[in-house]
Amino acid sequence: SQSSSDQISHMAIDIGGSLIKLVYFSRSSGSSRGGGSSKGVDGERNNAILDGRLHFARFETTKIDICLEFIKFRLQLGGCGDSNSESKNSARYKSVIKATGGGAYRFTDLFKEKLGISLDKEDEMDCLVSGANFLLKAVHQEAFTYLNGQKEFVQIDHSDLYPYLLVNIGSGVSMIKVDGDGIFERVSGTSVGGGTFWGMGKLLTKCSSFDNLLEMSHKGNNRVIDMLVGDIYGGTDYAKVGLTSTTIASSFGKVVSDKKELAEYKSEDLARSLLRMISNNIGQISYLNALRFGLKRIFFGGFFIRGHEYTMDTIAVAVDYWSKGEAKAMFLQHEGFLGVLGAFMSYEK
Ligand code: ADP
Repeated sequence: SQSSSDQISHMAIDIGGSLIKLVYFSRSSGSSRGGGSSKGVDGERNNAILDGRLHFARFETTKIDICLEFIKFRLQLGGCGDSNSESKNSARYKSVIKATGGGAYRFTDLFKEKLGISLDKEDEMDCLVSGANFLLKAVHQEAFTYLNGQKEFVQIDHSDLYPYLLVNIGSGVSMIKVDGDGIFERVSGTSVGGGTFWGMGKLLTKCSSFDNLLEMSHKGNNRVIDMLVGDIYGGTDYAKVGLTSTTIASSFGKVVSDKKELAEYKSEDLARSLLRMISNNIGQISYLNALRFGLKRIFFGGFFIRGHEYTMDTIAVAVDYWSKGEAKAMFLQHEGFLGVLGAFMSYEK
């Protein structure tokens, strides 16, 4: 998607527990439309801005070698050295790139050895917050609600953005109360996050990849696995406390009384119960933290979401249900790229 004569001026990287996120800016000499894909790249898309283009890419952290090759190719490292002044200027960006996420520490030596690149480290929480603030203020149609199968973009009033709760669902989950630019506090978190879904999904189902696991959850029926209020009450509601017969009383609870082996359960049903359990739990903890600080808006980011309807629906319903409609769950178009965008923007500092 990028011609070889494109000049990359800035690049930033976020190396997380599961995924590596990359953002780079190129001034195009030709046209570079659309989200082309290169070998080994999980997802890549381009956004036109100013006189250049912002590119997004992600890789699995376990396949860091593919990422290194990609960077080498994109930065044309070790390629033919032309000596015009613009490329001299960009040489600086080829030897140092902004980096965040734990892997920025873990892989420092690898980047130096394989690419001759030093990673200029930025704090992960700082990056998440500045990335989210930037997206919410600068990008048209970034935040949206998801209710009853309807995606609806939210107009953000810049003067009325703070405070809000930022919930980043990556491998683990961070909950951050944001009060302004650079003003925030990590108020909570949970280790039951995207890594849990993927890890347990790998153990319980025959999924071949994360996307496959998500796809299966789409087709499954959680009632086969979860114990519902109706299962306990013999098909009727427990109306006195507002529980309908289809409310989940116990995630995976139905399995206990079944005389079945794991192999006898459908992967689709297991994937769906697992996704439901984790999304619901995150929605509920998020709501409790919003309540704790009187926050009305909760923005959810991180690559766990993947724009997946069932995930967003479960989280939104949990927030809506527990807050009795008081708090709103909102999702972000650039969900998984908050941290790396924050790192990218730290060039401005
Ligand atoms: P981290 O920085 O911890 O890697 P991310 O925001 O990148 O966090 O989210 C990682 C999570 O996203 C994974 O744990 C998994 O649940 C989910 N995920 C989404 N897409 C993929 C994918 N293609 N491969 C692996 N995990 C994915």
